[in-house]
Amino acid sequence: MYDNWKSLNDECTGCRKCDLSQTRTNVVIGRGNTDAKVILIGEGPGEQEDMSGKPFVGAAGQLLDVLLEALMFKPDSYYIANIVKCRPPKNRVPSDAEAEECLPYLRNQVMLIKPKIIVCLGAVATKYIIDKDAKITRIRGNWIERNKFAILPTFHPAALLRDESKKEPMWNDFVMLRDKMKEVGIW
Ligand code: URA
Repeated sequence: MYDNWKSLNDECTGCRKCDLSQTRTNVVIGRGNTDAKVILIGEGPGEQEDMSGKPFVGAAGQLLDVLLEALMFKPDSYYIANIVKCRPPKNRVPSDAEAEECLPYLRNQVMLIKPKIIVCLGAVATKYIIDKDAKITRIRGNWIERNKFAILPTFHPAALLRDESKKEPMWNDFVMLRDKMKEVGIW
């Protein structure tokens, strides 16, 4: 574990722990406020993210931005990262081995940020952060308290692009997030 961002960033940028490092363009570490009390966690970089080195800048990220703006989230109120920091070829789901190699970096980010709230965007984040057998459709929208974090699983914004019917539940989940932020005094 590193106690500073420079060392962690350098380590991630030079990482060769799994094969995703061979096909990546950029390591995608995170974006947003490193002092935020909320961290949103996705799956892994897609093409746009791999090219830019920033998470959630493609179509799914733009949809997420629209949702957060519509609900009046301040851009400095959250930080966004992913389970894996390098793009899986053809955007396949990261393997267990890839996720396990990469997770210590995410844990280190969480340690440095010290968020109160963790939002799991989609099944992959939910699997590695909450429960490997969790079903996202069943547990989304339910707060889980663990290790002093309030954890909220919700859909991945890319799922909304494929299935309109997920819009309303995901909106409701972000209203819950906003309410919780108000309740704990971080809104
Ligand atoms: N999907 C993710 O899970 N993460 C990104 O950064 C972009 C798309």
